[in-house]
Amino acid sequence: MGASHRGLVNVSYSVAVRALCEFTAKAGDLDLRFTPSPSAQQGIAGHALVASRRGAAYEREVSLSGEYRNLHVRGRADGYDAERNQLEEVKTFRGDLDLIPANHRQLHWAQVKVYGWLLCQARELDQVRLALVYFDIVSQRETIIGETFTAELLREFFERQCERFIDWAEQDLAHRSARDQALGELRFPHANFRAGQRPLAEAVYKAVGTGRCLMIQAPTGIGKTLGTLFPMLKAMPTQSLDRVFYLTAKTPGRRLALQALETLQTDATTRPLRVLELVARDKACEHPDKACHGESCPLASGFYDRLPGARQAAVEAATLDQASLRDIALEHGVCPYYLGQEMARWSDVVIGDYNYYFDLNAMLFALSVANQWRVGVLVDEAHNLVERARGMYSAELDQAAFKAMRRVAPAALRTPLTRINRQWNALNATEDTASPQGGLNHNQAHYRVLDAPPAKLLSALHNAIAAITDYLTEHPAGLDSALQKFFFDALHFCRVAELYDEHSLFDMTFRPGRRGASVSTLCFRNVVPASFLAPRFEASRATVLFSATLSPSRYYADLLGLAANTPWIEVQSPFTADQLSVHVAERISTRFRERSASLSPIVELMAGQFARQPGNYLAFFSSFDYLEQVAGVLRERYPEIPMWVQSRRMDEPARQAFLERFTATGRGIGFAVLGGAFGEGIDLPGERLIGAFIATLGLPQMNPVNEQLKRRMGAIFGAGYDYAYLYPGLQKVVQAAGRVIRTPQDRGVVHLIDDRFTEPRVAGLLPGWWR
Ligand code: SF4
Repeated sequence: MGASHRGLVNVSYSVAVRALCEFTAKAGDLDLRFTPSPSAQQGIAGHALVASRRGAAYEREVSLSGEYRNLHVRGRADGYDAERNQLEEVKTFRGDLDLIPANHRQLHWAQVKVYGWLLCQARELDQVRLALVYFDIVSQRETIIGETFTAELLREFFERQCERFIDWAEQDLAHRSARDQALGELRFPHANFRAGQRPLAEAVYKAVGTGRCLMIQAPTGIGKTLGTLFPMLKAMPTQSLDRVFYLTAKTPGRRLALQALETLQTDATTRPLRVLELVARDKACEHPDKACHGESCPLASGFYDRLPGARQAAVEAATLDQASLRDIALEHGVCPYYLGQEMARWSDVVIGDYNYYFDLNAMLFALSVANQWRVGVLVDEAHNLVERARGMYSAELDQAAFKAMRRVAPAALRTPLTRINRQWNALNATEDTASPQGGLNHNQAHYRVLDAPPAKLLSALHNAIAAITDYLTEHPAGLDSALQKFFFDALHFCRVAELYDEHSLFDMTFRPGRRGASVSTLCFRNVVPASFLAPRFEASRATVLFSATLSPSRYYADLLGLAANTPWIEVQSPFTADQLSVHVAERISTRFRERSASLSPIVELMAGQFARQPGNYLAFFSSFDYLEQVAGVLRERYPEIPMWVQSRRMDEPARQAFLERFTATGRGIGFAVLGGAFGEGIDLPGERLIGAFIATLGLPQMNPVNEQLKRRMGAIFGAGYDYAYLYPGLQKVVQAAGRVIRTPQDRGVVHLIDDRFTEPRVAGLLPGWWR
């Protein structure tokens, strides 16, 4: 979907066949009983297998296009057999074909009919046989439903679909034209750029202009959200961008982006953008006790019949944050979550979590590819993407949870689940040699990395997935949640297994089970997500990754899969060395074996600083254990110093209460863990925070898993220790210290507590302006 502007008098609107039919031919209930659909890999393999069964005359992936008024319709039909004059659309599925709802089949027919007309027109055919090929990925059997149509009938059908879409397309075109004109005139909303903000904005604009990705390290406090969104929006008309995606790791980042867009569009007459905030399903669902189909949820029943009204109201509202999208959805009796999914197709700026563009099922990425959108992508706090992406391409299965589920699973599933159990136990018996690999801490659960994933267990899992799918389709209501959880976990596990390569480990963690036998957790553990993310960057016109801590650039480029020549720039800090007094406690060692000796000197250092300069401080430690030990000694020796402590499981109100202790007139020390909720993303300007104590280098704990990460990254990049320990650790230290200076007026102190901070390779990783 998108406009090709060749001057307003000659504008054509391009739409993919699938998008056209989804718009015009979907009716009735939302029905997700047929999820999970086959994975992308299974779909591709299914299509390839069907094609391989056809004769020499069979053409695969036939590109077709046609015009109707100013509508340009394009797409790729799955296959055409010229000898039989048969055009095929292949649909892979699992489960019972008879249970595919009528409105899904209707959509499939609409697609093949549109392709049918485009083919007749291109090849001057009077008629063609259309075939829907339903391919069962489990049995690998095809069910073909075919019918012959005249070209005339297909033309009429095609034109009817276009007619239904054309009003919307014209409205969309008008919007696009007004949007681009307004963005051309968009002015920076403040009289001046903040220091550093202009070079930031210029770099983003240039990246989109040259169509390259860009990494930017820019300090907090210069207004990165506005400084990246503004140039990206300015580039929309000049670079013909269809969409901008603003991706964040956490909810506060979404809010800041919404606020920045508000600031940019203060004049109601120049609100050119349709903005959408995407929220996770569990946060948007109105009926968490129901399932997403018309027989269970009232907001799924008749969803597609009411969708046109809701969609129209949504584009008129322009800004769709969580609350306004919900209001519109409920007014029209449709599900807010799925209305959000629909509006992702029609919004100019979409704000959402990283996973919408980067994970295995990323909707925004899939839409961009399917609709050939030119997109500009902004990745906020991009240092988080390494860990988040690893999580997206990792998968775990726990045997104890499996056993508990199996005990209550329906009798119909006994055989496939027993097979899994047998294979799992056999794997434990071969692999649990009771000799810990990595063996650095024998108190850890027993851990092994295998050379290859267990083929027999995976086959048993595939088998069970098929059996559970059949069971779920027949019993859609009242499912046991443990069974459902296992099902989705197993499905994800098998999908990730298909992607297994040197970028991942396959490991097992054993612990004693009942009756002396071990139970294990199986894990595909992604170490280097680069190969999964690289195609996402390539699919964008430009992706800009920005953060206050994005160095060393090589580390992020290697792990994230950015091209070697991706520019990395550092925006100079507006802060000066005299604002921050940095001290290294070089007589204290926080190494694990020397921790108990470090408690007393750390407490004395903190108390001394507090006495010299009373005010609010944050003290960061690498673990809750270490934090509690130091807090205990401080409390005992200096009960007069007010202190408050982060606890292991803090909910949102507790976190808020922790932060509220930092008042402009307050005094005391807040204890927190490095890399935790208070280690980044919190803003305590002025007197609310005047200093930080950072004990340790933030190095991840040395354990068998991290040792394996080190080994694997050493083999791939030749810098195992740095990639597994040093860089992630120092990144947390710099983020934590970054809490102190938030504005050019702030003054503060940072105590780096460990002798290793004086080592050149460690000191070299600290921000230049500190020195
Ligand atoms: S409201 Fe909840 S249960 Fe209903 S369709 Fe939406 S997400 Fe599914």
